[in-house]
Amino acid sequence: MSIHLNKKLCQGCRACLSICPGYLLSLGPDQRVQIEEPERCWGCAACLKRCPHQALGLYLPPALGGRGILLTVVAEKTSHADPESTQSPTTSGYRLRWRAQSGSFVREIVTEPGHSQGY
Ligand code: SF4
Ligand code: SF4
Repeated sequence: MSIHLNKKLCQGCRACLSICPGYLLSLGPDQRVQIEEPERCWGCAACLKRCPHQALGLYLPPALGGRGILLTVVAEKTSHADPESTQSPTTSGYRLRWRAQSGSFVREIVTEPGHSQGY
């Protein structure tokens, strides 16, 4: 698993900065996120779930489909979500749409946040 950053999609919103358990994410001088020591990323996917712009992704290892397949996540509000809620998109009221893509190959699954601890 290796972390991937699409700087063009990063809006510098800071939502991902404090979520990384390895403290690998920070804002760079360009006010977009940067990944310090990306080789230390262990692929927990916490930052993917937090980013509202899909700027962060993970390349899947061979055992999960092979390098070149990029995993991204979209957090979508469900009909049960409080429209005024400022809760994290990884809490109830949201569902997570996981997308694995390589070229024209696309697979999606949808999970409830509590069901995605192991992805
Ligand atoms: S996947 Fe996990 S360990 Fe890797 S950068 Fe994101 S939050 Fe940090
Ligand atoms: S959450 Fe996404 S858009 Fe916001 S700073 Fe992090 S990578 Fe950039």
